[in-house]
Amino acid sequence: MNASTVLGYAAMAEGRELEPLEFTPPDLGEHDVRVDISHCGVCYTDVHGIRNDYGISTYPFVPGHEIVGAVTEAGSSVFDLKVDDRVGIGWQGRSCMQCEWCLRGEEHLCEDIANCGTWKPFGGFSASIVVDSRFAYLLPEAMPSEIAAVLMCAGVSVYAPLRRYEAGSSMRVGVVGVGGLGHIAIQFAHALGCDVTAISSSPEKEKEAREFGADAFVLTDTPDAMKPLALSFDLLMYTSHAKGEWTNMVDSLKTRGRMIVLGFPEGSVTFDPMELVIHEMSITGSLIGSRETMREMLAFAQEHSITPKIELMPISQANEAIQRITEGKARYRIVLECDN
Ligand SMILES: [Zn+2]
Ligand SMILES: [Zn+2]
Repeated sequence: MNASTVLGYAAMAEGRELEPLEFTPPDLGEHDVRVDISHCGVCYTDVHGIRNDYGISTYPFVPGHEIVGAVTEAGSSVFDLKVDDRVGIGWQGRSCMQCEWCLRGEEHLCEDIANCGTWKPFGGFSASIVVDSRFAYLLPEAMPSEIAAVLMCAGVSVYAPLRRYEAGSSMRVGVVGVGGLGHIAIQFAHALGCDVTAISSSPEKEKEAREFGADAFVLTDTPDAMKPLALSFDLLMYTSHAKGEWTNMVDSLKTRGRMIVLGFPEGSVTFDPMELVIHEMSITGSLIGSRETMREMLAFAQEHSITPKIELMPISQANEAIQRITEGKARYRIVLECDN
């Protein structure tokens, strides 16, 4: 390989298998850092990215946005990171820094969010990446890199809404889906002192859900399975990618309860508005987290030993990893090890 190029794994067109690609790395801007990647998690959002489901992918498309690595170069205006620092990088690699939301410190809601992804121009399934240093987070020293990788997207995505809606010891939290996001949501909610119910269509998930910190497990093997949960939850975190039984979900909320949609479930959300009105319920979405939330999440995860369950695979097996994620076979998250 030419010394001036970087090896990555790219989809050359929508929905295609990944293949090795040598690309010219981007130039370094004054606020940027260049990071040699040691680990990169595989997120379902990467699958959507490969298929261009969001309409924002450009090809060749190098996925990957749960990145850990070492800084190798820092721009002239980077003062808080230096060469050899170990950092984590999530889905957001930059922002406009001047829209209403960026000025409020909620950069994850940037009006230019479509152009803020670490995917652009090339994501983390590669040997190195360039991002704005303000979106590269110094990691707690004792935190293993593969754990940190998963926390950069899945971790902050479930932690942010728990904190935003003040999850605590007086709260009952339901987590729908015990998968990549759900198993971490259970751990964070448990660590925050909530009473946690895991809700899954897979009976084999019960034992592990309880080990992750669930106080109860509800198997949704029949359409009526959630009926006994009517008016139960302060917060219901919908982490599944599968189409939901939305009426049952809404009915399981307490008065003033809130359902938070975190995955990108298929189909439309439908529900009976009567229950929503009578009980003043809310349905909301939540997208990754701000820089402040990211830093807080890392410290909290370290303090409370939040431990995503991970399968490690070499980056050369990226296609196999994507396939396991697509088929729902990963237990519970896959992290690729890079060759650096
Ligand atoms: Zn992600
Ligand atoms: Zn902005």
